[in-house]
Parts: sequence; structure tokens; C-alpha cells
Amino acid sequence: MMQWTVRLEARTSAGEVKTTELVTFSRPAVVSTLAEVGLMLDETKTLLAGLQASMLCGQVAAYAAYHRVCAACGMLRPLKDRRTRRLQTLFGTVEVEAPRFKVCRCRQPVPMEAVTVSPVCTLLTARCTPELERVQAELSARTSFRDAARIFDTLLPASPANQESVRTRTHAVALQLEAADRQAAAKVTAVRDAPDKAAAADASRPVVMLDGAYIRAIPGHQVRNFEAICGKVERDGHPTRRFALVRSVAEQPHALLRAALQDQGWREGDAVTVISDGDPALPALVRSATGGPVEPILDRFHLCMRVHHVEQVMRGLCALEPPPLAPLNHAQIDVERLRHLLWNGHHEKACEALGRITSWAKDVIVLNAPGIEAKARRLVARCTELRSYIENNKGALIDYGPRYRAGKPISTSRAESTVNQLVNARMNKRRQMRWSPRGAHHVLQVRAAVLDGRLGHLAIQLAT
Ligand SMILES: [Zn+2]
Repeated sequence: MMQWTVRLEARTSAGEVKTTELVTFSRPAVVSTLAEVGLMLDETKTLLAGLQASMLCGQVAAYAAYHRVCAACGMLRPLKDRRTRRLQTLFGTVEVEAPRFKVCRCRQPVPMEAVTVSPVCTLLTARCTPELERVQAELSARTSFRDAARIFDTLLPASPANQESVRTRTHAVALQLEAADRQAAAKVTAVRDAPDKAAAADASRPVVMLDGAYIRAIPGHQVRNFEAICGKVERDGHPTRRFALVRSVAEQPHALLRAALQDQGWREGDAVTVISDGDPALPALVRSATGGPVEPILDRFHLCMRVHHVEQVMRGLCALEPPPLAPLNHAQIDVERLRHLLWNGHHEKACEALGRITSWAKDVIVLNAPGIEAKARRLVARCTELRSYIENNKGALIDYGPRYRAGKPISTSRAESTVNQLVNARMNKRRQMRWSPRGAHHVLQVRAAVLDGRLGHLAIQLAT
């Protein structure tokens, strides 16, 4: 038989050493299978739990002893009673002594029984460590609450985690993140620069890319689906910042957005560029959150999708054998020019071209057999769609070419990938999950923070 004993040597600041035997592992003198080689998970859990209990109890005892000393006379305050407190940690639940002390004798004539202090209760402000809360939140932002609880249970001697406790902690962390955002939003400074300086800063103004996503609601909710707004704020020289919110339940949606902008060096009054897919609510949200100038840009990707629909139907018509009755050439050229016109900011000309294509398609409907007629009707529909899309978004259509050549973003495809990262990967329909708006909003807060790498930063912020 071979044995390994792990002894813990704790050394206090005074140099006292206390040795505790943590655990002993045994194996046959000569192992016979691969499974007997090395540490086992269960053994590791026991080891970690023992180490945690030992360390934590030692620290808490030292804390209680330190705070027992009366600040006024230096004497020990009398002990009232010994209680215990439980603390949940990543490495198990630890029960610690939490003695209560009476008021010092030097403070008399305060009635002896009137005042008792429990220093340990002042130290242990929560039932679980911030690290346990944060790691559980991080894991459940990546996978389901149930799976997060299972992973914990499998790998760590952590305090028992069920789906509910993991969910509760995730919500707690989300509330902390929102509170931190509100604080940051309140600290936004105003622009005080001269106009020319502001113009120079213009070159790298923050770009907000916004997109919406639908999430399935829990049964009994008023609607089947509700919307989450996801976005990204980008600015040269700053790490990208993601944000997401469910508008109906976000306590201060403006604060979330302002905090994300502030993170990118945005100041009150600075102009912001907003790229979105044509839903006017999205630039409006940014406008009301910033209270300053907003330059809306219609997302190039969504515009191209609609042009593509027109091109596709036209290609179908051109491929017909025999060709439809009605001169094809001009309409074909007009369709081919659409992309070019919209890319270079010639929206009026694009609308004129769409008008010509539509009237040609109407001729086709009149002149041809029903099979072709259906295709031509589809072309009319697609053209009308694109035309009203252009007209509704007139203020957000730009000359994309120069902006693109300057290396500036022109598409929310990056915002869409944010939707995928934030919403679809955790909440999409395939996962068969249904959400309450509040639950989804909270998980999105944590998920955005996890993807940005902000969650660890939050812990530091809270600790200081
Ligand atoms: Zn005293």
C-alpha cells in the first residue's frame, strides 16, 4: 500500500505555525490499471474543501480576535456568546465561528446587555462569496441554469448548486452590472471643447450598431415573443463594448446605452453614428439616450438583401424560354444599376429605376400567359418593397462608397453577430427555452459582460 498525506501548514503574522492533516490518499503498492494512477476527482474535491475550510476558519478567527480588542483601552471585550455562520463558496459550504462580544468595560456605565457586536457578521455581508456568485453567473450566461449547476456539481466541491440557486445568483450579478452601468452613466462628462476640436474628434466618433431579436416568452405571458435589442459600440482605439436590453423591463435602458458609450470615451454632446436595419425605434433610442446629435445610417446589409430579392426575380424572368413578350433590355439594365446607384447615394435615381422596372413588369403581366404573370407580379411586389424601404429611410441613406473606403463600418452584420452571440446562442428556439422578459434581460446583461470580459472587472469594482 502506498499513501499520500497532505498536511497544511498555516503560519500567522506572529510566526505561529499550526499544522493540520487534510487528507490521506491510498493506492495499492503496485497499481494494476490506468484508473488507479494519479489523483481522483473525489479526492481532489475533499482536498480542496478541507483546504478551504481550514483557510477560511483561520482567517475569520483572526478577524474576530482582532476586532475583539477595544479601540479605546486595548482590552479584550467580554464574550457574550458563540454563534456560527455558514458561508457558501466555490469550494464548499464552511461553517465558521461568529462570536458576539459585549461592549467594553471601559465604556461603562453603558448597560452591559445593551450593546453586542458580531465582527464576523460585519465581514460576511452575504451568504456566498462574490467569486461563487460570479463564476456561477458566468457559466449560466454560457449555458442553461441546469447545465451550469451540473457542471459545478461534477467538477467542484462547491456549495450545492441547483438550477434555482444558479438562477438567483445570475440575477444578482445582473443587478450589480446594471447598478454599475447606472453609476457609469451618471459620470458621463459634457463636451467643453471648442468646435474645431470637436470636429477633429468626429473622425472617430462612436458607432452604435443595433439590431433586434425575438425571444420566446414563457407561457402565460401576454405575448408569444418579445424583443431584445442588442448592439455593439465601436470606436477606434477602444475595445468593443456589447450591450443588450429588453426594453419593457430594463430599469433604465438609457443608462445601459450611456454606460456603453461612456466606456468608449463618449461625452455628453458628442455626435454618435447609429447603424441599424431601418426600424426607426432603434436610432430613436440612441437619440433619447444621448440627447445629442445622432447620425443614422441605414444598414448596408439589409438594403442589399432587398436589392437581391429584386435581382433574383428578374433573373428568373430573364431565364424564361421563350422570353416574355415586352422588351427586356431596359428593365434588365435598370436592375443591374440598382446596387451601384444605392452604393453611391443616388437614392432618387434608384427610385426612378424601380419605377421603370415596375411599369415594365406591369406590361409583362398584361402581355403574357399566367405562368409568367405570377413572376412579374412578384417583381412588382419586390420593387414596391424596396422603393418604400428607400423612401422610409431617406434620412439614413448615405453615400456608402467613401465611408467604406475610409474603413468605417456600413453594416450591422457585426451587430447581427452580436445578436447571435448574445441571444441566439443562449436563448434560441432550438433550445426550447422560454423566457420571462426580466429573466432574459438579466441573462443578457451577464452574457454581454462575459463576452466583453467585463465580469471580472465588475468584481474588482465592487471590492474597492
Ligand atoms: Zn475598552
